[in-house]
Amino acid sequence: MERVNETYIREAIGLANLNALRIALYQQTGLEELATMSVEIYRRENSPLELPVLAKQHHARVVELAVEYLMKGDVKKAPIPSFAQARRLMELFENESPNELSAHYAYEDLAFEDFSRQASWTHKPAEKALQNFEVIVVGAGFSAIVAAIQLQSLGINFRIIERQADFGGTWQLNDYPEARVDISSFIYQYKFVRNYPWKHYFAPREELKEYVNHVVKKYDLRRFATFNTTVTDARWNEETSTWQLRTKDAHGNAENIESQVVFAASGLFSTARLPDIKGIESYRGEMFHTTDWNHDYDYTGKRVALIGTGCTGSQLLRDLAGKAADVKVFQRTANWVMPVPNYRNQVPEQLRWLMDNMPYYVNWYCYSMHTAQMRQQPIQELDREWQAQGGVINEKNDKMRDQLARMVQKMVGDRIDLAEKLTPDFAPLSRRLVIDNEFFASLQRDNVELLTNGIREFTPTGIVSADGTEREFDLVVLAAGFQTERYLHPVDYVGRDGRRLNDLWGKDGARAYLTMTLPGYPNFFIFYGPNAAVRAGSFHSWVEIFSRYICNLLTEMIERKATTVELREDVYEDYNARLNDGMQDMLWEHENGGGGSYYINEHGRSTNTMPWRMEQFYGWTRKPDFEEFIFK
Ligand SMILES: Cc1cc2nc3c(=O)[nH]c(=O)nc-3n(C[C@H](O)[C@H](O)[C@H](O)COP(=O)(O)OP(=O)(O)OC[C@H]3O[C@@H](n4cnc5c(N)ncnc54)[C@H](O)[C@@H]3O)c2cc1C
Repeated sequence: MERVNETYIREAIGLANLNALRIALYQQTGLEELATMSVEIYRRENSPLELPVLAKQHHARVVELAVEYLMKGDVKKAPIPSFAQARRLMELFENESPNELSAHYAYEDLAFEDFSRQASWTHKPAEKALQNFEVIVVGAGFSAIVAAIQLQSLGINFRIIERQADFGGTWQLNDYPEARVDISSFIYQYKFVRNYPWKHYFAPREELKEYVNHVVKKYDLRRFATFNTTVTDARWNEETSTWQLRTKDAHGNAENIESQVVFAASGLFSTARLPDIKGIESYRGEMFHTTDWNHDYDYTGKRVALIGTGCTGSQLLRDLAGKAADVKVFQRTANWVMPVPNYRNQVPEQLRWLMDNMPYYVNWYCYSMHTAQMRQQPIQELDREWQAQGGVINEKNDKMRDQLARMVQKMVGDRIDLAEKLTPDFAPLSRRLVIDNEFFASLQRDNVELLTNGIREFTPTGIVSADGTEREFDLVVLAAGFQTERYLHPVDYVGRDGRRLNDLWGKDGARAYLTMTLPGYPNFFIFYGPNAAVRAGSFHSWVEIFSRYICNLLTEMIERKATTVELREDVYEDYNARLNDGMQDMLWEHENGGGGSYYINEHGRSTNTMPWRMEQFYGWTRKPDFEEFIFK
């Protein structure tokens, strides 16, 4: 333990989540007094998150007990709690008992073990049996990385093929100024890389890249990756029971690759959306999409147009507004924007010390965010009774909407014109909430103007608004997002008997069983596939769960000495009928069925988000039901 004085310890504790500290302290000391303290549910204004917090009357006592404990030094870590013990601790944390599935899901998230979601063999085959077996992993983002780590630990050969120049996926591609994660770094991380020393509460892109490199190095993954190479075609060969892939490198050289299995970890936000605006090709000034930032172009003192105010556009505005002479912001749809404490702040060194020196504190700190996310799920559900009484979605959602609307007014002060333009006409959480990266403040600068009356066309020198006003620009930034409806694009994977994705998806968009498998597609698995944008819990928790599920199907196939595993058609049909039904109770299609949200495809259907509570979905994805698959 790194020795520090009492003042330092008190400063560290002053920054801590006291409920998390209490539970960690209880774990370490067994002091029953800590177990009897009461907890309150605190809902942060303007936020969907509900946090169980320690009741005020206990604060001083927990601080004293913690100071006393940490002053002793030489803290010895208590043994890892069993599931039953951890469940009791969760109960103390929240003052209520989590149900069985929620508790299992949370136990894995608490990450007491080294790798709580590791795939495993029942009877590991001899090395020789795996010699000629290989998995091709398409992509090198967070999904691909965990897939590779699982395969490596199972001793299964694999290769990563990535069209970009490095690992990182989204965070390699999106290097626009101000790019930063919008959920806490402490949950936007793998659970098996514990207590990573995050410098920021919300890591900027550069720090996320450092994290990626840390993981890649730790697991020595670089030697398995081929970069600057795109998978262009893929077809199942029935005779050889293999996938035939075709790749193209940066010089245009093509190669054919054969593999037994394909993991498509190619990302949801991989294909940029370029706005289809009249005359755009005639524009002669500088113009780029946010995924294609020209870092050589200096816009200091220039006239800039920013098209789009979703998560990316609004995050970016702060930088443009601070440097350019003039910024016109073209907004098609107002989004709900939420201020978040600590968004740009660094993690103080005292808090870092506490995380390193108070055993289990970091586990419970992360758990507090996990549970807050789980608790937000009801806000996404339609309450028919509430609606019958004139409500819009449900009591909590409507209340949050009022709060956010008031917050917009407060943020823009006497700029009533801005308040009107910035207040959305749909329910919060029916689209992704935007985090306020000084968006409101930037819009009130003298050099910034928000334009909402639409774009008529581009000219060679600028943009004409729908009202006929023509403006000249030096730079146009396209923050128009991604083609999120085009799963797996640009590869048109061809399955058994020539089945194409369009045969399955042509009617109303992309679907998959439990987001991962398709009938007619043997040995083919999707990561972060259709409807995988989870309602709660961190992205990384879910890719760990997906990778365990997929790898467990693979180990079962190998152990059965089968050469293929394939989803049953009836399972797919039944699941999707249930998905359609479930979606009727959710706010996404209800609010945005007319289109415009990236959650909704051109058929008015949500192909990104999930209708089920996460604990239920966890129950289905914790381990595969082998009866649902055909092994041959
Ligand atoms: C700007 C931005 C901010 C985000 N912020 C958050 C956030 O705060 N919190 C959150 O939970 N999520 C966020 N996301 C979502 C984010 O995409 C996921 O969290 C996660 O990074 C996705 O990882 P992935 O590996 O599944 O996909 P990606 O990171 O998209 O990786 C897929 C990789 O596959 C490669 N690829 C695709 N097709 C091919 C091909 N045919 N051949 C070869 N390579 C191919 C791509 O180049 C890419 O590198 C954000 C997304 C964006 C775009």
